[in-house]
Amino acid sequence: MTSAVISETSFLPSENIDPKELADEILRVLKYRGGKDATVATPHDWLTASIKVVRDRIIDRWVSSTKEAYDQSAKRVYYLSLEFLIGRLMRDAFSNLGMMDAMREALSSLGVDFDVIAALEPDAALGNGGLGRLAACFMESMATVDVPVHGYGIRYVNGMFRQEIRDGWQVELPENWLDHGNPWEFERRERAFEVGFGGSVESVTDAQGRLERHIWKPTERVLAVAYDTPVVGWRGKRVNTLRLWAGMSLDPILLAAFNAGDHIGALRESNKADALSRVLYPADATPAGQELRLRQEYFFSTASLQDILQRHLSQYGDLHSLPDKAAIHLNDTHPSVAVAELMRLLLDVHGLDFDDAWDITKRTFAYTNHTLLPEALESWPVPLFERLLPRHMQIVYAINAQILIEARAKGDFSGEQISSISLINEGGERRVRMGNLAFAGSHSINGVSALHTELMKETVFADLHKLYPTRINNKTNGITPRRWLIQCNPGLTALAREAIGDRFLDDIDAISDLDALASDAAFREKFAAVKRANKQRLASLVSERLGIRVDPSAMFDIQIKRIHEYKRQLLNIIEAVALYDQIRSHPERDWMPRVKFFGGKAAPSYHNAKLIIKLANDVARVVNSDPSVRGLLKVVFVPNYNVSLAEIMMPAADLSEQISTAGMEASGTGNMKFALNGALTIGTLDGANVEMKEHVGDDNIFIFGLTTEEVAQRRANGYNPRDVIAGSPELSQALSAISSGVFSPDDPDRYRELTDGLYQHDWFMVAADFDSYADTQRKIDEVWRDSPLWYAKAIHNVARMSWFSSDRTIRQYAEEIWNVPV
Ligand SMILES: *Cc1c(COP(=O)(O)O)cnc(C)c1O
Repeated sequence: MTSAVISETSFLPSENIDPKELADEILRVLKYRGGKDATVATPHDWLTASIKVVRDRIIDRWVSSTKEAYDQSAKRVYYLSLEFLIGRLMRDAFSNLGMMDAMREALSSLGVDFDVIAALEPDAALGNGGLGRLAACFMESMATVDVPVHGYGIRYVNGMFRQEIRDGWQVELPENWLDHGNPWEFERRERAFEVGFGGSVESVTDAQGRLERHIWKPTERVLAVAYDTPVVGWRGKRVNTLRLWAGMSLDPILLAAFNAGDHIGALRESNKADALSRVLYPADATPAGQELRLRQEYFFSTASLQDILQRHLSQYGDLHSLPDKAAIHLNDTHPSVAVAELMRLLLDVHGLDFDDAWDITKRTFAYTNHTLLPEALESWPVPLFERLLPRHMQIVYAINAQILIEARAKGDFSGEQISSISLINEGGERRVRMGNLAFAGSHSINGVSALHTELMKETVFADLHKLYPTRINNKTNGITPRRWLIQCNPGLTALAREAIGDRFLDDIDAISDLDALASDAAFREKFAAVKRANKQRLASLVSERLGIRVDPSAMFDIQIKRIHEYKRQLLNIIEAVALYDQIRSHPERDWMPRVKFFGGKAAPSYHNAKLIIKLANDVARVVNSDPSVRGLLKVVFVPNYNVSLAEIMMPAADLSEQISTAGMEASGTGNMKFALNGALTIGTLDGANVEMKEHVGDDNIFIFGLTTEEVAQRRANGYNPRDVIAGSPELSQALSAISSGVFSPDDPDRYRELTDGLYQHDWFMVAADFDSYADTQRKIDEVWRDSPLWYAKAIHNVARMSWFSSDRTIRQYAEEIWNVPV
């Protein structure tokens, strides 16, 4: 394997872990907790034993972190997220605890290859993409910068689907990540809370007939049971808890049904409870319209809130101090029903009055908006909401009355503005607007990049912003440098340590010391050698998995992310087709060899996205087997993009494709991972690309295409893609090749609707940006040709990306939103 090329180093010589002792411990765990001895242990047994050994070391710190927060009466953060895309945890834990080398050695003394068992650890894919990965990076950063937090989510039995490519098409298979058990988690049967659905609301009146309180009488009841996973920060400073809820049927009900002989009924109840934590909805930009989704959202919101209130009451005895001791964060609108649920708990269970409860609620919650795409703004039909959550419906109306009165009192809101502020969308089918509910119930609403935050103020939340002008703020996303540099790129880490010392390991800002070395020819050579080894690692993977040979000296041009029309993989593929054409028409030119890599999953119901995957594979087949291309261009679609694959692909990239239609990508975090690992970016002025340009400098990033304002202008002036296409010979030629079946001789019309869409409306401005994109690609070839220049720019990228660390992001959340010390 490649471990010979890329050596992993331990960063904590002070820990002085004896590999011999570690080996004994592994054997002990294997024997007494796994019931096996070394002679019969399978690789999975070794994996489980290794994880349990490191887990045991984490537990002491975990208990003390939790106790510390309690003793100091520290304010705690609660991060509610329907997704945590954590990936594998073993390397993370070993690396953060400085045990990597010792563990390798210990296992090797037992005849076990660390890399082999590490590859067996399932990739915990409890998320779709960027939003879920952000939650995972935040958990790691909070443990590192010492913020006491509980992450709350759902323990999906089937997380993100596993993608296979068969005959070029995406096939979705279940990812059974729990099949071999999950050695990281602790089931907490004693932390279980009841969750109700449906039923009716009774009002209780006092002797004088005045309304005293409401009592919700749900007809369905299930249990949410906690499973805890420790999250360890850098150098094991703090260990926080990720608490995931699993659905379970309420035993007494089941028992009664069984006793009454209703076995089928009992089974149905148990399946219903099970279903709540069975699947993650595999769509990241459209709300799954299903009732089950709303049930999941309520399920994990109420369980988390009950847990939080119980903890608060047992420590402080009174809920009025909740906002001083708890900051509850809503990661997107998925948990926003929590606003109504906290109100219900405060009003109906704890007997507070409305004004008190509303004040506590607003001071406790904060909300992050992740998208402006209209189809992704969650809303639920009023009849569905009312049927599942009748009491919450009443509360939503009560909150709505409150905010509409506030708006009217201001006097300068038009009827249209009032209806856009309303929590209920009255146009057509009446729906509850979850974004408005989250906004109304939070003291802070943040966007995830400077551009996105400004657009939020001008578009979706324009009127709510006018009503509550102090609430919207920006927190540009970040990534954890532990996973996205130290762990995934040990070669670059070792080189940087050698060149500038170890300070950057603890303070990523110190990586800026590399900047001066961009002009040092010897350093550039070493940097290029590391990049080359990382590319070789990817080339081996591609050769093993796909049987495609790629040359590591070619430029590795990579676009990996969810497949979505706004992310414009199509623009990249069409450019590949145009380049293919050019190479064949002008064989005399000195073309720079390139490999274009694609990877990403499409939502199973997203027709065009799946067609784009097929097109990438069709183009790859034709281009890769055409001898006239002479290997100057290769196209590779790498299946099953997930965190573990990202860890191999990010460090291997020369060029990072961040080419969304301006105004549509809220931030992006893939863009940051690439640049931190020394790739240059080709991108639009969208999301965090705008801020990346400011940090790395205009000369070290390739910006092309329309700006957000220009996109809006083009649309307003009646954009006509047909004329644009006619005016670009390269684009016309590429599109006619695709639409006439050059890449799909078995089904020549396969891409007709895709290309027709470009001619007819081109919602995502692919045609409008094509020439600018293709020209920029040819300029990039010229920079690539000048290798010292290229690597100097790449080094500047690494040195100047530290601001995009999620440590920085988390410090800003802590100081400016949560009011907790860091
Ligand atoms: C970082 C990451 C993403 C987000 O990528 P974008 O390019 O920002 O959309 C998605 N999936 C995985 C596995 C990631 O690691």
